[in-house]
Amino acid sequence: MRRAWIISSGTELVLGQSLDTNSAWLARELAGLGIRSERHVTLPDTAGALREVLLAAVEQADLVLITGGLGPTEDDLTRFELAAALGVELERDAASIEQMRAFFATRGRQPTEANLVQALIPRGARALPNSCGTAPGIRIELRGVPCFALPGVPTEMRAMFAASVAPEIRSLAEGTVLRTRTLHTFGIPEAELGSRIADLMRRGNNPEVGTTAEFSVIGIRMNATAASEAAALEMLDVTEREIRARLGSAVYGVDGQTLAGATGRGLLAAGRTLAVAESCTGGLLGALITDEPGSSAYFLGGIISYANEIKRDLLGVPGGLLDRHGAVSRPVAGAMAEGAAVLLRADYGLGITGIAGPTGGTPEKPVGLVYVGLSTPATTRTFELRLGSDAPREAIRTRAARAALNALRLELLESAGPRAADAPSTHAPK
Ligand code: ATP
Ligand code: MG
Repeated sequence: MRRAWIISSGTELVLGQSLDTNSAWLARELAGLGIRSERHVTLPDTAGALREVLLAAVEQADLVLITGGLGPTEDDLTRFELAAALGVELERDAASIEQMRAFFATRGRQPTEANLVQALIPRGARALPNSCGTAPGIRIELRGVPCFALPGVPTEMRAMFAASVAPEIRSLAEGTVLRTRTLHTFGIPEAELGSRIADLMRRGNNPEVGTTAEFSVIGIRMNATAASEAAALEMLDVTEREIRARLGSAVYGVDGQTLAGATGRGLLAAGRTLAVAESCTGGLLGALITDEPGSSAYFLGGIISYANEIKRDLLGVPGGLLDRHGAVSRPVAGAMAEGAAVLLRADYGLGITGIAGPTGGTPEKPVGLVYVGLSTPATTRTFELRLGSDAPREAIRTRAARAALNALRLELLESAGPRAADAPSTHAPK
């Protein structure tokens, strides 16, 4: 498979003052064209930096894409760096000057000397028209490798990629396509999950399989390279089936699907409704549920019962339970879930109470201790989570809300019958 390097230049990117989104966008576009993004390099606007990386890039890559530094200001060095790497002079490109004059004319202005610098391109290079700005892009061939310099402004960069780069590099792809898919799981720790699918993750496999972890959600990324889209998708289907067979109901979704969406689909299929009572998550659970379009079909509402009086007076948690066990306890989580379901007349209730930190922990009840209550039409269950006394507040709250959603998702799967857990994904190819 053909390999590309993507180079972004901008001191603001290297210092972390703004985020390099161009490289990520370009890498995804390349994947769609069957070209693998092999390396991203981010450089400051310093003389010599781009030249040096460019010379290294053409030793290893079949294609180089550069963004940024094409503008009219002092720190825009890309054209000078390209010329230096090639060892040629810069020349004015007549067509680019014409386009620039036309661009300014429609705005009732004249290009300045600084603007005209943008029409300078290395001798032998080709200017790429800019449909939404003034700086043309530049295409050079360095040691036989095509290199495209595109503007840094994302809208200009995307338009130029589509108009002038994609049509040319399509033929580079040699009839290979790269298709990706991500399965999302909850509940199996990353190390254990990794050992269950270790053989699938072996280096050199196709599809290539790797994992990512974020707040208890482990993603399993699959990249398939094949001669056709159909063949790549078939390979992804086979690997997906294998992973699902090994991980069972821990897999809750594919690509853009969320945990709240999976839980919502379960409620919808069962024709049931949900209400929530939240303490330490302060509404996060309700927010995750209502992030899903169509959630009004099953979500009735929730109560943020932060104070003990609200737990007691509004949700009906018995004062005795609060006195005896404390607000952060199994019985209170269960009573909150029941209280929400009763008060809002829902089939299911979820309750969350815990210590999100960084203060408020004790030796018996450390930061990160969370109880989830799940009230169902038949019974009430409670779950204890220990999310780490040094974990940040955001991690504890997010993981607690996700654990509550997952408890309900598994409950719904179980009551729908054992087969529902391995239902095939209704994934539409991108
Ligand atoms: P201009 O003609 O506007 O000067 P340029 O090609 O010189 O275009 P830069 O000056 O490098 O581009 O960047 C212009 C703006 O584009 C920056 O202020 C930044 O907001 C955005 N930008 C640059 N590079 C990136 C990048 N890699 N990812 C996202 N945004 C970027
Ligand atoms: Mg600029």
